[in-house]
Amino acid sequence: MADLAHTAITHLKGVGDALAEKLAKLSIVTLQDLLFHLPLRYQDRTRITPIGALFAGQDAVVEGAVISASVLMGRRRSLLVKLQDGSGTIGLRFYFFNQSQKNSFIKGARVRCFGDVRAGASGLELYHPEYRIIADDKIMPVEQTLTPIYPTTEGLTQQRLRQLVEQTLGLLSSHNLPDYLPTNLIEHYDLGDLREAICYLHHPPPDANAQLLAEGKHWAQKRLIFEELLSHQLSLQRLREQIRSQSAIAIVHSTKLVPDYLKQLPFSPTQAQQRVVQEVTYDLGMPLPMLRLVQGDVGAGKTVVAALSALPVIEAGYQVALMAPTEILAEQHFLTFQRWFEPLGIKVAWLAGKLKGKARQNALTDIAEGAAMVIGTHALFQRDVFFKQLALVIIDEQHRFGVEQRLALRDKSVDGLFLPHQLIMTATPIPRTLAMSAYADLDTSILDELPPGRTPVSTVVLPDSRRPEVITRVQQACKEGKQAYWVCTLIEESEELTCQAAETTFTELSELLQGVSIGLIHGRMKANEKVALMQRFKEGELQLLVATTVIEVGVDVPNASLMIIENPERLGLAQLHQLRGRVGRGQAESFCLLLYHAPLSRIAQERLSIMRETNDGFIIAEKDLEIRGPGEVLGTRQTGLLQFKVADLMRDSDLLPDIREATQELLENHKESIDLLLDRWVANRERYGQV
Ligand code: ADP
Ligand code: MG
Repeated sequence: MADLAHTAITHLKGVGDALAEKLAKLSIVTLQDLLFHLPLRYQDRTRITPIGALFAGQDAVVEGAVISASVLMGRRRSLLVKLQDGSGTIGLRFYFFNQSQKNSFIKGARVRCFGDVRAGASGLELYHPEYRIIADDKIMPVEQTLTPIYPTTEGLTQQRLRQLVEQTLGLLSSHNLPDYLPTNLIEHYDLGDLREAICYLHHPPPDANAQLLAEGKHWAQKRLIFEELLSHQLSLQRLREQIRSQSAIAIVHSTKLVPDYLKQLPFSPTQAQQRVVQEVTYDLGMPLPMLRLVQGDVGAGKTVVAALSALPVIEAGYQVALMAPTEILAEQHFLTFQRWFEPLGIKVAWLAGKLKGKARQNALTDIAEGAAMVIGTHALFQRDVFFKQLALVIIDEQHRFGVEQRLALRDKSVDGLFLPHQLIMTATPIPRTLAMSAYADLDTSILDELPPGRTPVSTVVLPDSRRPEVITRVQQACKEGKQAYWVCTLIEESEELTCQAAETTFTELSELLQGVSIGLIHGRMKANEKVALMQRFKEGELQLLVATTVIEVGVDVPNASLMIIENPERLGLAQLHQLRGRVGRGQAESFCLLLYHAPLSRIAQERLSIMRETNDGFIIAEKDLEIRGPGEVLGTRQTGLLQFKVADLMRDSDLLPDIREATQELLENHKESIDLLLDRWVANRERYGQV
């Protein structure tokens, strides 16, 4: 019997090269790929809703008789068709229409339409609904099943995709779709039948529970989610195995640089820092590549851990690269490491994307000639960057990077023989159980102690009607020699608007706060301007820094003890926690004022009160998970997590312990299933195959 995994999509009737090309954009090449291309959501077209029972936000099938059809001139010319069905009236609104379309809505004609209901100018309206005008005596049946909506690509309609899936489901009787999960595992976790699950999801029966499906909690979904998460774990384990089967340079203990560095450091490392550094140096001593994640809350002192990890490598004569997610943070690390390392005779080099021309050439030369400590942004991983002998890569604030970048490192090996050791550092923007799954290829160290003498940041939540008081408070603080951040948050995803808002705030505060030296920093400024500004703030020349969230990650100015965040309701908990972590880094008592704009949604209220109640990143991460609705996915931008077809790491986190157990079971007893599962589930799997 032919296997769907090996049957090309062109096997289907009506699929030629052009269509196959479009499908390939969705990673659909075989019939198996098509069957595992699952609906994003469902529409319920199985019944007609009386107009009087409609509410805004609902998808609905409506049927009624035309009362009127008129062209309205308003801000935009539109066609408004009024329908009634005895229970009420509703408007159909079209912005794109032609005369014959208008004429077809004859008074009294019966119209069946489908669309989402909104509150419009004429009351409830359907915007650009799909519709059919029904011939007088005809009875038109409704759909028998929920209608699946698939992820698609330009030029490929839902209709077409549905037909192709139908055709393929029809082949299930004559073709093989093997279940790669071992029977004992399916029984143990009560997973149900694979084919049944696939058929159900493409074609839910009329009585399907739409609510369960929308929440991703239906057994058929769980069956596939389980398989997908399992495959993902296996791919990370495979990646780990492949990296660990390579060689790395074994680094001996430092006898000179580490003691010298500690001597000049104005404090001694915490117990936790010492323990983590020990774990790292143990790994570095092995002739195979370290893959270690350090999780430590904001302000726990990860930079010192980075330095103490780098020094033995440098002492052994090799290079270390430190990569940061933003230019500001990279520059700050550069200055810190210069201050720490240059007195020890270590050359520190710097590379960022915005470095151009001669400066860039010089940096590249330094790196190629073996500058011991190289600091930069992801620009470090570009193809034209050649290291002389890179033996350790440190990635700061990993949640900003994807697996992609981790993989790109493989090109930077020494003499093509030795892979660099990898140390990945992150604050905890996602709960630990989740992190363990997202980073299943890494060993973990936990930095669970803050340096001594820190007082927790006191957080106050205020409506922005109290802004004038807050401004007075900032003035007072600056008079006392303290430093403050004033953070303007993102406006509607528009960096442009946000920068403008920061500029306006800067001008306004400059007028109101006479005698206070104020700086402005935002994403639209040139890299060197930003860096110069941060430097002036760090040196205390500026007392108040008006900023966008460009300062969110990693910035360290211990004297800053006051932070105002405007419209904190626009930010997620993880981001607020990161931002607030910019204060409370020194000895002074620190404050964070969250200046919200009323009214607050329930979720925003919850978020802000959590911020007021705790400074603990772990708790914040757990709470974040609790209050997120199931549909709200933690985006890849924030987490660097892989994209899934059906799974959602946040929503499905309750499955993770089982998944880990099952991963182990497959690795130990069912190795033959692994490749087959990866082939089915993990897109671009070839990347994982090559080291
Ligand atoms: P993060 O973990 O957020 O990256 P940093 O490395 O920026 O934290 O450290 C935060 C601040 O704490 C820095 O000013 C750093 O110099 C200071 N610091 C780090 N370790 C110690 C320590 N053991 N004792 C006192 N201060 C420390
Ligand atoms: Mg840091």
